[in-house]
Amino acid sequence: MPIKHIRAICLDLDDTLWELGPVIEQAERVLQVWFARHWPRVSERYSIPAIRALRQQVAGRFPGQEHDPGLLRRATYAELARDCGYPGSLGEEAFAVFQQARNQVMPYADVHPALPRLARRFPLVALTNGNADLEAIGLHRHFAAVFAAAGLGVAKPDPRAFQAVCERLSLQPAEIAHAGDHPQHDVAGARAAGMTAVWVDRGHHAWPGGLPPAGHVVHDLMELVALVGA
Ligand SMILES: [Mg+2]
Repeated sequence: MPIKHIRAICLDLDDTLWELGPVIEQAERVLQVWFARHWPRVSERYSIPAIRALRQQVAGRFPGQEHDPGLLRRATYAELARDCGYPGSLGEEAFAVFQQARNQVMPYADVHPALPRLARRFPLVALTNGNADLEAIGLHRHFAAVFAAAGLGVAKPDPRAFQAVCERLSLQPAEIAHAGDHPQHDVAGARAAGMTAVWVDRGHHAWPGGLPPAGHVVHDLMELVALVGA
């Protein structure tokens, strides 16, 4: 059944438009090589898993800041620098190296044909808990706006993240379809906010037992194009 009566589409980014895990792993390797070349005490003292563990510790020291992954990474890299006797400003440089690699994503094959069709028919916006840079990735021209949790001060599935999108588009929640891969963050969150929720099942998550089934399920964005009549 096609979805009717919507006036805008809101898309998740990571794991909806591209697979995130391999990109993060590659970015961590790129950063480790960069440390070895320019700041060798960091890579001598800290393996990639050790840096991940430090990031978890740092996150524990920034309660309520989980919506800002960039802040946590910068703080982690600044701490590595201090611990190794390097200037704390290295944190910012390291973050830039990581981000450059983090944006080397490989969109799923359906993304390039689907985005222009969606964007021709509806205002298309993005709502992400991550910090992908659509301009660096080269997909920004399809999007009327990008809302990141770090900028909103609140992350999905908090209904306030979805409400912020409604306010910026001057639309009611029921007039917006939100599509994303995550059962809780995207589907349950959008539904709780009153949006039409679409689960983009890319095979990353089994549907959680306790969660009411998604009303709309697609496996790629061309199925979303069909579902919304774009
Ligand atoms: Mg996602």
